[in-house]
Amino acid sequence: MRIVLLGPPGSGKGTQAKLLTGELNVPHISTGELLRAAVAAGTEIGMQVKEIMASGQLVSDELILGMLEERLNQADAQAGFLLDGYPRNLAQAKALDSLLERLQIPVDEALEIAVDNEQIIQRIAKRAELEGRSDDTEEVIRRRLEIYTEQTAPVSDHYQQQGILSQVYGVGTVEEVFERIKGVLTLAAS
Ligand code: AMP
Repeated sequence: MRIVLLGPPGSGKGTQAKLLTGELNVPHISTGELLRAAVAAGTEIGMQVKEIMASGQLVSDELILGMLEERLNQADAQAGFLLDGYPRNLAQAKALDSLLERLQIPVDEALEIAVDNEQIIQRIAKRAELEGRSDDTEEVIRRRLEIYTEQTAPVSDHYQQQGILSQVYGVGTVEEVFERIKGVLTLAAS
């Protein structure tokens, strides 16, 4: 099962992805987490992206695609994966299509978690207290939401056109949202 998870920052994608990987037995691949690990480890890539990430901008398509390809080639991703944080724009969606076509493993489903902006800003203020991420300040979050609307929202249309997009409403308890997700994934699979 190869799933792409879409949704704005703070939509609960990461939390739901962790629950879903347990259910589906495929790895959760988060490009944001791969980058944060590179920053924490002080690798060359980490040093290149640190400032960009802290400002809420996207890192270059090329850099992220190379990193993703390397991760998708690892043994645990051969049976499937849950991709979180990629694609972030149409160019990345097309690059992913080409990459997966080359590897002969197309995306089965794209799942979008929809949450309105004010709700997100409140949630992220909480996450900032708990996790202390440098890109979780209100100003940076507003920028990340703008980028999402301008660049990432069109990615949903891309998957809609391929007939593999499902959408769920992301407001409610973690369990409620998870139940909705299982509902649409089961329906889509049947
Ligand atoms: P996330 O954890 O997915 O919210 O990502 C955190 C940050 O990492 C983003 O604001 C970007 O700076 C960077 N990032 C993660 N995934 C991508 C991507 N697919 N393309 C470009 N930048 C990304």
